[in-house]
Amino acid sequence: MQLDGQYEKSMYINGLWCNAESGNQEHVVNPASLNKIKAFSYGDGADAKKAVEAAKKAFTDWANLSARERSKYLYSAYTLMMEKQEELARILTTEQGKPLAEARGEIASAASYLQWYAEEGNRVYGEIIPSSNKGKRLFVVPQPIGVVAAITPWNFPSSMITRKLGPALAAGCTVVLKPAEQTPLSAIEIVKIFEEVGLPKGVLNLVTGDPTSIGQEFMSNPDVRLITFTGSTEVGKLLMRGSADTVKKLSLELGGHAPILVFDDSDLEQAVKMTIMSKFRNCGQTCICANRIYVQHSIQEEFTAKLMEQLESMKIGEGLDEQVNIGPLIDENALLKVKHQYEDAISKGASTALGGKVYKEKLNGYFFEPTVLTNVSNQMKVMNEETFGPLLPIQTFETEEEVIELANHDRYGLAAYLFTENLNRAIRVMEKLEYGIVGINDVFPAVAEAPFGGIKQSGQGKEGGREGIMEYLEMKYVSMGLKR
Ligand code: NAP
Repeated sequence: MQLDGQYEKSMYINGLWCNAESGNQEHVVNPASLNKIKAFSYGDGADAKKAVEAAKKAFTDWANLSARERSKYLYSAYTLMMEKQEELARILTTEQGKPLAEARGEIASAASYLQWYAEEGNRVYGEIIPSSNKGKRLFVVPQPIGVVAAITPWNFPSSMITRKLGPALAAGCTVVLKPAEQTPLSAIEIVKIFEEVGLPKGVLNLVTGDPTSIGQEFMSNPDVRLITFTGSTEVGKLLMRGSADTVKKLSLELGGHAPILVFDDSDLEQAVKMTIMSKFRNCGQTCICANRIYVQHSIQEEFTAKLMEQLESMKIGEGLDEQVNIGPLIDENALLKVKHQYEDAISKGASTALGGKVYKEKLNGYFFEPTVLTNVSNQMKVMNEETFGPLLPIQTFETEEEVIELANHDRYGLAAYLFTENLNRAIRVMEKLEYGIVGINDVFPAVAEAPFGGIKQSGQGKEGGREGIMEYLEMKYVSMGLKR
C-alpha cells in the first residue's frame, strides 16, 4: 500500500466507500518523523447518522443468519488478516510508531480475536429454568443487542478494533466503527478485509472524523443500543452521561495505572525482565503497562542495578528499523505529559537513575529517553496519574500490608502485577488487590480466550473470553403457559 497521498474514499457506509458529506479531510502524521502520510475523510455526526441507518437496516438479516454462517465470515477475515500480517504491521508502525516486531505481534493478536469469536459464536447458549409452577415453562433466550457503536483508541489501532468486532459480529450485531483520528489507516485496512471476505453490506460501517460530533450522534441516536468504548476514563464518563437519555448499554475499557509489586522472594531476573517488557512496550503507551513499581526495600539496590544494565542497551528510533526497541510517543501532548510528570517528581525529591530528557538525536519525532526514577514517594504525580510514556518510578516498601494499601490507593482498577516465588503470598496478595486483572509472575494477560476489563474507574464490562460476547447479547426471558 502507498503510504502517501490520499484515499479516493476512506469511509465505508452500507457497503460503499465514500467521503465525508462535508468534504473535510485530515492527514495522518507519522509520530517518528512528523511526516504527513495519507489524508483521510474527516466526517461528523451527519455521516455517523447515515452509518447507523445502514447498520440498522442490515441488522435483521445478519441476526437471522445462523451462528455458523456468521462464523465463516469471521474465520475468513482472520485468515486474510494473518496473510496480510506484514503489510498491516508496517502500516500500523508508520501511523502509530511502535517497533515493527510489536506491530506484527499486535496484528496476530488482533486476528486471534476474530478466530476465537468465530468459534465462540457457535456456543452462545440459553437456559431452561425449572419452574415453581407445573403449568409453566421458563426459558432464557440470548439475542443480539442490535446496532453497536464502537469507539477505539490509537495505542492498539488494530487489536482494540477486532476485540470489539469479533464478539459483536459473532453475536449477530451490526457495527458502526469510529477509530482514533491519529490511526485511521489500520481501521480502514481491517474494514477492507471484511469487504474482501464478502461481509453483507451495512453489517460493518466505518466513520472517521470529529469525535465530539460523531460521539454526540452515537449517544443521542436511539437506534444505537450499545456503545463499546476503549479510551480514557474522562471520555468514558462523558459517554456515560450523554447516553443516559437514550438508556444505552455501555461497555467501557478505560484508563489504568498498573502497579508492579516485587517481593524479596521473587525471581529477580524474571521480575526485572518483565518489568521492562511491561513498562517500555509501545513506549509505555499501554493501558495495562506498569506505571508504578513497588520494590521491597531489601532488594531495591539489586533490582535497580539489574534494570539499568538491561535498559542501557535499548535502542530508540523509528519503529520500521528492526533494531529499534523504543519508538516515539504518539504526539506532542503525550511527550509534554511525560516531561511534566518527570519534572514534578524531580521537584518533589526523586532522583534520576537513567534518562530524563526529550530525545532528539537525528530524529524529528516525539521521543523521550527511557527513564528510571528512584527515591519516589506517593505525593508525586507519576504515582497517581496514568503516565502513558517511558517513565519508570521505583518506590520501596517494607511489608505486604503496606504495599497492598499503596497499590489499592487509586481510582483505577485495571491491571496489577506481583512477583514472588511464594505460593501462599501470591494467592494472599492477589485476593486483596482491587483490580480486574492480576498478573502473578506474568505481565501479558491480554489473550482472546480470557476476560479482560477493569473495575472502579477503569471501566465496566469485559472483552475477550466467553464473557466478551455477553456484552453484545440481551437475555430475553420467556414464560410460557402450558395447556394440559
Ligand atoms: P481518548 O482520548 O479517550 O480517545 C479514545 C477514542 O475516543 C478516540 O477514538 C477518540 O477520538 C474518541 N473520543 C474522544 N473524544 C470523544 C468524544 N467527546 N465523544 C466520543 N468519542 C470521543 O483516549 P486515547 O488517548 O485515544 O487512548 C488512551 C487511553 O485509552 C488511555 O487512558 C488508556 O489507558 C485507554 N485504553 C484503555 C484500554 C483498556 O482496555 N482498558 C485499552 C487501550 C487504551 P479522536 O481520536 O478523534 O480524538
